[in-house]
Amino acid sequence: MDGVTIVNHPLVQHKLTLIRDKNRSTKGFRELLNEIGMLLCYEVTRDLPLTDVEIETPIMKMTGKEIAGKKLVFAPILRAGLSFVEGMIGLVPSARIAHIGLYRDPETFVAVEYFFKAPTNLDERLVIVIDPMLATANTAVAAIDRIKERGAKDIRFVCLLAAPEGIERLRGYHPDVPIWTAAIDDRLNDHAYIVPGLGDAGDRAYGTR
Ligand code: URA
Repeated sequence: MDGVTIVNHPLVQHKLTLIRDKNRSTKGFRELLNEIGMLLCYEVTRDLPLTDVEIETPIMKMTGKEIAGKKLVFAPILRAGLSFVEGMIGLVPSARIAHIGLYRDPETFVAVEYFFKAPTNLDERLVIVIDPMLATANTAVAAIDRIKERGAKDIRFVCLLAAPEGIERLRGYHPDVPIWTAAIDDRLNDHAYIVPGLGDAGDRAYGTR
């Protein structure tokens, strides 16, 4: 599918099966979200441009490589994005973080903003928007709208699970934003949950239900 990368690395697929299990504890769910986040981060940053840098080892001078440009930005959508971004920060500790507070109205499924705080110079940075679940894509579309309003031009979206409806909608609204996901599930149910999915990622990560 154009603009969509399914990360089918065996470790990702194994952990995805573990995290889907309804008997997984809150602790286990959060740990797995963290671990899968790290593995997906590895994939989404695979093609970052490098630049030469002169260093000196204990033996001699040499030309090494470092990631070019300004520090990248992780933009987790609250609240489930917070656990998902933890592993990514572990891999890229110097990344900047934009927090995007959006919840979906349970009746209308429309995204409602309650918090937004982002680093400066978004126009000069790669921004990776993070939400474990791409369901209707209402929150993802709204989050990317906000990020673009602040000037971002180079944006990627990472999720754990996607519904075909969400992918179609996000690609339709933001065709310039490529998507990375561990799996594309069958469909959405009447409550806009992903089927078979894993339930409510926020509730499972924070033990709120
Ligand atoms: N959000 C979730 O947490 N789970 C879904 O299945 C859909 C949206």
